[in-house]
Amino acid sequence: MDALQPPIPAGKVYLIGAGPGEADLLTVRAARMIGQADAVVYDHLVGDGVMALIPADAEKIYVGKEAGNHTLPQESINTLLVRLAQAGKRVVRLKGGDPFIFGRGGEEILELIGSGIPFEVVPGVTAASGAAAFSGIPLTHREVARTCVFATGHFHDGSCDLDWPALARPNQTVVIYMGIGALPVISAQLVAHGLAASTPAAAVRHATLPTQRTIVGTLEDLPGKVAQAGLKPPALLIIGEVVNLREQLNWFEDLPR
Ligand code: SAH
Repeated sequence: MDALQPPIPAGKVYLIGAGPGEADLLTVRAARMIGQADAVVYDHLVGDGVMALIPADAEKIYVGKEAGNHTLPQESINTLLVRLAQAGKRVVRLKGGDPFIFGRGGEEILELIGSGIPFEVVPGVTAASGAAAFSGIPLTHREVARTCVFATGHFHDGSCDLDWPALARPNQTVVIYMGIGALPVISAQLVAHGLAASTPAAAVRHATLPTQRTIVGTLEDLPGKVAQAGLKPPALLIIGEVVNLREQLNWFEDLPR
């Protein structure tokens, strides 16, 4: 191990973004730290290829986290991380995508700070970047989209109460995580707040994986198309004129398999 690859110290927690699925979309730093872990606490969106990098003798602890189906409540996950670190382990907390984008990574870190546990955070390719690249939909494009916003379509109380006027702006791309269930509400609200019903919109499931599937439509017809296709989470919604670029920029789904 050379100076650029110092061993990771024990008793520390590494909050690591596992990216959108494929192992080779991990950062080099994330791969190095995963390879030295004593304990890995992971959730359901971490890809199989990433899991395969965990040393055979490391403890693997699944804590779930599908929408509405938390295997372990957040407070128990926080306590678990503290306990493992206090036991002197090199702890890797693996989360899908980026840990600071709809990943509750901040909450876990606050708990570690409260218990005096040292930590580091390693970013990951968030689902929006993975979906954009692999579906051929740039999130910004000159003269088409100057801003891009990320929002969540999942609310613990079941509502989908977003800042609709802010989302329904021209020349903007709206990316919605966890938005498949609320897609009919999202489409209707964006149109009610001023976006044309003909605004292009896409749903991308399993972005970057061989099972990736993209459904393209408009705000008006995407909910019906998604329902008809039976498209299930995890999927991302991309809304805005940039979706039209896919016609020319799509590359991944056309690759021979
Ligand atoms: N921290 C993660 C997001 C966690 S929220 C990140 O940065 O990507 C979980 C949601 O992310 C899913 O419901 C889905 O909307 C989205 N997502 C995660 N991985 C995805 C993938 N491979 N393809 C499409 N959407 C994905």
